[in-house]
Amino acid sequence: MRYVYQAVERIPKPLSEGVVYHSREFEVGALLCACGCGHRVSLLVPDSHQIESEGGMATIRPSISVCDAPCKSHYFISAGRVEWLPAFSASLAAATMRSQIARHASRDVKPLSRMQRLWAAIVKAYTKFRAALGI
Ligand SMILES: [Zn+2]
Repeated sequence: MRYVYQAVERIPKPLSEGVVYHSREFEVGALLCACGCGHRVSLLVPDSHQIESEGGMATIRPSISVCDAPCKSHYFISAGRVEWLPAFSASLAAATMRSQIARHASRDVKPLSRMQRLWAAIVKAYTKFRAALGI
């Protein structure tokens, strides 16, 4: 199977096999997993992946690691061709998921306010104090 590149405004609900959909407007890409499991792979473009058309065939960089489906597939798509990479182990896949979630979450983290820092210092001091007294 080879993946063709298809620029779309919105990612369609039912995806066709062998098509990499790319919405520049919404900065997302989507395809059905290359292993045939039917899992819908979503890509954040350009944050996590780059999608390009090479003569109408899709090229995706970096590799796609399917962490959120049982297949745990891992592959490159180059000019429409799937290049398989060693499958992620469950633990590695979980770690990758966690780091991705952490990366997303860290964007939303606001610096602590002065009150929050003060409160944290008080709690810390109090905890130390209690520990010192053995209570
Ligand atoms: Zn799959």
